[in-house]
Amino acid sequence: SLATAHTTGVSPVIRKKLMGYVGFANLPNQVHRKSVRKGFQFTAMVVGESGLGKSTLINTLFNTTLYPPKEPLPPAAERPKTVAIESIGADIEENGVRLHLTVVDTPGFGDFVNNDDSWKPIVENIESRFDSYLEQENRVNRMKVVDNRVHACLYFIQPTGHSLKQIDVEFMRRLHTKVNLIPVIAKADTLTDEEIADFKSRILSDIAHHNIHIFQAPTYDNEDEETIAEAEEIASKIPFAVVGSDKIVNTPDGRQVRGRAYPWGVVEVDNEEHCDFVKLRQMLVRTYMEELREYTNDVLYENWRTEKLLSMGVAQDSTVFKEINPAARLQEERVLHEAKLAKMEAEMKMVFQQKVQEKEAKLKQSEEELYARHKEMKDALEKQRAELEDKKRKIESGRPLTPEKASTNRKKGFLRT
Ligand code: GDP
Repeated sequence: SLATAHTTGVSPVIRKKLMGYVGFANLPNQVHRKSVRKGFQFTAMVVGESGLGKSTLINTLFNTTLYPPKEPLPPAAERPKTVAIESIGADIEENGVRLHLTVVDTPGFGDFVNNDDSWKPIVENIESRFDSYLEQENRVNRMKVVDNRVHACLYFIQPTGHSLKQIDVEFMRRLHTKVNLIPVIAKADTLTDEEIADFKSRILSDIAHHNIHIFQAPTYDNEDEETIAEAEEIASKIPFAVVGSDKIVNTPDGRQVRGRAYPWGVVEVDNEEHCDFVKLRQMLVRTYMEELREYTNDVLYENWRTEKLLSMGVAQDSTVFKEINPAARLQEERVLHEAKLAKMEAEMKMVFQQKVQEKEAKLKQSEEELYARHKEMKDALEKQRAELEDKKRKIESGRPLTPEKASTNRKKGFLRT
C-alpha cells in the first residue's frame, strides 16, 4: 500500500490507505448523537403589545400549551408600570431529539401611556444573559455551560395596515445588534391580501430607512439551488404575516385543521395560501434554528463581548490614566512647589544677607564709633596726662630743691641756672 512519510516535529506522519472499513467516518454522527442526547437549548423572545396573539403563536409554533389562556389585561390603573420579563421553560422531544425551549415574554411592552423606555428592560435582559454566558465561559470548569442567550426575538407588529409606529422603530433600532430580530405582522387574518402586501412593503422600507438589521437566512456559495431557493422563498415573506390558533376546527370541505373559524370561512394556520405561519416555523424551527443559534454566538454575542472587553479595556486605560495623571500632576506640582520654595529660600537668603550686611555695617559703624570714642578718650587722657606731666615738671622746677634733691640733680648732671 501507499505510504508517504513526512516529518512534522519529531513524529513522522505516514499516510496509509485503509484495507477496509474501520468506522471512524462515523465520528461526525457520534458527535451529532452526543449533542442530540445532550439536547439543544433554544431561547425565543416575544415582544409586542398585549393581545397581539404572542402566547397563542408560541403554542401554535411548538404545538404545545406552553401558555395557558391569558387573563384579559386589567384596567390601565391596575397594571404594573414597567415592562416585566417572564420566561417559561419546557423540555420537548421529537423523534428522540430533545429541545429545551425557553420562551421569554415581555408583558407590559407598549401597554403604557408613555412607552418611551419600553425597550430598556429588554435590552438589559438580553445583555444580562450575555453576561452570564461570558461568566460561564471564563470559568475554569466549563463542562456544563448553560446557554440562556436569546437566539431569536419575534417582534409583533400591530396589524394597522399603515406603517411602523415610533415604538416599533425605537425597539428594533435598540435591539437589532443584540438579537436576531424576526418581525411578524400579528393577527394577519384581520387584513386582506392586498393590505398585507402594502403593509409589508411599507414596513420593509421603514426598516431599510432606519438601517435596521433583521435576521436573514444565510446563503453560502457552495449551496445547492434547492437550498438557495428555499432561503429566498422564506426571505420573500418577511415580515411574516401570521395567524395563530391552538384550536382544531372543521373546514367546509370536512378537514380538521388548526385554524380560526369565522362565519365566512376558516383561516388555516398551516396553509401557506392563508398566512406565512409555515414559513415562520421554517425560519425559527425547521431550517434555521441552528443558524439562529450560530449567528447569536458568532456575531451578536461576539460583537457584544468584544465591545464589552474593549470598554473595560478603555475603562482600564482610563484608570491607568487616572493613576498616572495624578502622579504626573503631583510630580508637576512638586516641581512647581520646589521652585517656589527655592525662590522663597533665595529671597530669604537675600533678605538675610542684606540684614546681616546691615548689621555688620552697623556693628562696624558702632565699632568705629567705639574705636573713635576710645581713641578720643585715649587721646584726651593722653593729653590730660601730658598736661599733668607738664604741670608737674613746672611745679617741680619752680620749687626750691631739697639738699638731697639738689645733690642728686648735680650728680645727674643737671645744671641749675
Ligand atoms: P398576547 O397577549 O399577545 O399573548 O395575546 P394572546 O395570545 O393571549 O391572544 C389574545 C387574543 O387574540 C385571544 O383572544 C386570541 O384568541 C386572539 N388571537 C390570537 N392569535 C390570533 C390571530 O392570529 N388572529 C386573530 N384574529 N386573533 C388571534
